[in-house]
Amino acid sequence: MTQNQMLSNKIKIVTECDRLGFLESNASFYSKYSSFTLKALGKKSFQNFLGRMLTIEHIDETTVNTIDINVYPAPRKNGNNIAGKCNISKGKIRIYPKPIKFCIFFKNKFGKNTLFAYAGNRARAALIHELLHLKYANDETKVRELTKTYFSAYSGRRPQQNSNAMLIYKLLFLAGKF
Ligand SMILES: [Zn+2]
Repeated sequence: MTQNQMLSNKIKIVTECDRLGFLESNASFYSKYSSFTLKALGKKSFQNFLGRMLTIEHIDETTVNTIDINVYPAPRKNGNNIAGKCNISKGKIRIYPKPIKFCIFFKNKFGKNTLFAYAGNRARAALIHELLHLKYANDETKVRELTKTYFSAYSGRRPQQNSNAMLIYKLLFLAGKF
């Protein structure tokens, strides 16, 4: 098995069943969202890219234990919903969705396709970010800087001004909270 396959085999969806305050209708939304995230992260081109990134950074693939996709959003922190989390000593990474309220607002403003592109890229950027934490530990500045570099490299050439790709890049890295 190649390194890339081994990494994608560690990605799975986890539901915290004891979370209160989520309505039934939202459960189906979040369940679809998590399947979408699983596909976005498992995409072959992205997995190949991550494999190269781990090699460049000398991050041993075996330090990654689990990559869990949480069905429900993370609790708010400083008014923001975090996209991911990394337990460095255990090698456990978590990826969280955006709340339904945000997604409805975003869809109405930018359309469904842009929402999908945004959600997929947000999850990919989050995974890049959390994997880098395995090496750079609590150096948040370094991790953020490298996340931008690697995400841009993955997305290919610089996005054109006013394109959807540019909008997503801005939302992910420049807007702060949205
Ligand atoms: Zn971080």
